[in-house]
Amino acid sequence: MSTPYDIVIGLEVHVQLATQTKLFCGCSTKFGAPPNTQTCPVCIGLPGSLPVMNRRAFELALQVGVALECQIASFTKWDRKNYYYPDLPKGYQISQFDLPFSAHGGLEISDPKGKIAPKRIGIIRAHLEEDAGKSLHDEQAGEGDSQIDLNRTGTPLLEIVSEPDMRSPAEAKAYLTELRLLLVYLGVSDCNMQEGSLRVDANVNLHLPQADGSKIATPIVEIKNMNSFRAVERALAYEAERQFEVWKETGQKIGDVPKQTRGWDDQANITRGQRHKEESSDYRYFPEPDLAPVTVSAAELEQARASLGELPAALRKRLESTYGITPYDSDVLVNQGQPLVDYYLVLAKKSGDGKQASNWIQQDVLRVLGERGQAIEQYPVAADRLAALLVKVKAGELDTGRGREVLARMLETNETAEAAMQALGIAAVDDSVLVELCKELIAANPKIVADVKSGKQQAAAGLIGQAKKRNANVDPARVKAMCIELIEAM
Ligand code: ZN
Ligand code: MN
Repeated sequence: MSTPYDIVIGLEVHVQLATQTKLFCGCSTKFGAPPNTQTCPVCIGLPGSLPVMNRRAFELALQVGVALECQIASFTKWDRKNYYYPDLPKGYQISQFDLPFSAHGGLEISDPKGKIAPKRIGIIRAHLEEDAGKSLHDEQAGEGDSQIDLNRTGTPLLEIVSEPDMRSPAEAKAYLTELRLLLVYLGVSDCNMQEGSLRVDANVNLHLPQADGSKIATPIVEIKNMNSFRAVERALAYEAERQFEVWKETGQKIGDVPKQTRGWDDQANITRGQRHKEESSDYRYFPEPDLAPVTVSAAELEQARASLGELPAALRKRLESTYGITPYDSDVLVNQGQPLVDYYLVLAKKSGDGKQASNWIQQDVLRVLGERGQAIEQYPVAADRLAALLVKVKAGELDTGRGREVLARMLETNETAEAAMQALGIAAVDDSVLVELCKELIAANPKIVADVKSGKQQAAAGLIGQAKKRNANVDPARVKAMCIELIEAM
């Protein structure tokens, strides 16, 4: 599909950091408590209260900054972003304005399943800030009422702002998927979108190439209220088309109108105009007088680097080089998360065949987990037990089809591969038994015999079904090879 424009996308992601307590007070951050039970004078901004920085939140943020290959500032400070909203009783949000703790990073994206070529998305900055409360309107609060829940006020958020480097909704989705995976591997956030632990805003406009080689840019629109990565993808696709229609109608270019905020309506599948966005000067940022600036020493930075562990991109490469699997395979495995990778590692080592292990996980284990809505931790067959089965399949004691029957039984009964095979009456077929069987088949199928004799070896495949009927334990590949051998010797 070719369009007369390029879509230019930058994303702003707010991630709730996995701390026990809030950013500037000791209140709990636990989700789901009754409204306004997790507040104190500091987080609701009562006069005379003083904030104290949660060092743990800063350490987690630092890990993300390092993992995103950002430059980490050795000196960083807090600022007040002033605005009024009912869910912000202080009248300002403590954030970071001109000296964020990290900037100028990047994240590598690719999607071997889709059509995304590997690409580095620049990170403009990542800074820490506190969350606001939550307004509960009619539906939750009661007819015609609005109520405020301040439990979330002061929860630590990491705001990660990308460069406008994405050129399609699919690239935006790939970026979000990789970013979330990185954050989950780091263990800095649960990234639960339903509970608001990960929120995405998108900035999007179009570049229209002109005949003289120049480009016209349409006004930038910020899209909010997207509750899933799929919604982000759909909202961006919709918004690109909408902007193109508006441009054809009005000819408005960037700078002709103020930046607009639009909300995504997932039911109606459209974006709706909300307001014209404030400029940052409207917020009257100024340094937070109640908090000391934060310094980061070389030793602290080194410690953050050392605490990262193996990140998804490096893990994929290691699986590919150590176990000989494809980028597609390593992408599927790693994107499932660390527990599944741990399962795979045991399976690959104990079965001695990384490719076979990867195939069985993708075709059998993940399918069952998907059907049951379970995670790998709930999968009934331990990796070493599945490995014992794969060893038998590889050794030709049973074929893949029967292997699946054995696994199905292991899932239900908790038996070992050995016991399940015995219960199903599966045993390796003796060569002498196989020869007798093949001779009977050859005698009963003169047409196939003639075909094989005339050079069409493939015709021998027609004997497999009959062989299986007579003895379910025979290996199709061995039946075929044996029959061809016998026919050619006739
Ligand atoms: Zn508090
Ligand atoms: Mn923010």
